[in-house]
Amino acid sequence: MPTETSRIRDLVLPLLETELPPIVQLGHPALRQPALPYDGQLNPGELSAFIALMRRVMHAAPGVGLAAPQLGIPLQIAVLEDRFDADPEISDIRERHPLPFFTVINPVYTPLGTETAEFFEGCLSFNGYQGVVPRYRFVSLKYTDASGASGEQNFQGWQARIVQHETDHLHGTVYVDKVLTRSLCSNGEYLRRWASPSTDEARRTLGF
Ligand code: ZN
Repeated sequence: MPTETSRIRDLVLPLLETELPPIVQLGHPALRQPALPYDGQLNPGELSAFIALMRRVMHAAPGVGLAAPQLGIPLQIAVLEDRFDADPEISDIRERHPLPFFTVINPVYTPLGTETAEFFEGCLSFNGYQGVVPRYRFVSLKYTDASGASGEQNFQGWQARIVQHETDHLHGTVYVDKVLTRSLCSNGEYLRRWASPSTDEARRTLGF
């Protein structure tokens, strides 16, 4: 068995015995290294159990996406699901609509056009903060699904934001690398002052 494969299995198999493993935080090396393409390091039962585990952790957090490096596993696997029931004004301005659960393996996104959108986002691996990140408004995503089939799908707005955030995790990039630094807010200040659908007032006051 190749060394890389046994190293991955040594990391994943103990996690499968746990109900809710911790989400690793900024400073953990797995968040800063390119993850390995998934090429069968786990057997099908282990892969399904790992995906189910990632989904549990994402729901419990709660979050709208989770990438394997956030559990300390350097594999290109992420889960995405947005069940957040946004009020109509927020859905409208942020283009936030429900995203059914799906798994992406070895995903690659390509911007469709150059248009970007700037909104606050946070990361379960950088607890306690939110910041404004410019993201492509439209992207195309190529990936392999949990059954091993190839998929390609276009995403817009908030869904495109989630796709970019989670795919970036698989390449060692965290949103703080792309954030407009002057927009960084503690969750408390964000909720108190800047949770309105548009970022205009935050932009003027904080100067980003
Ligand atoms: Zn994240």
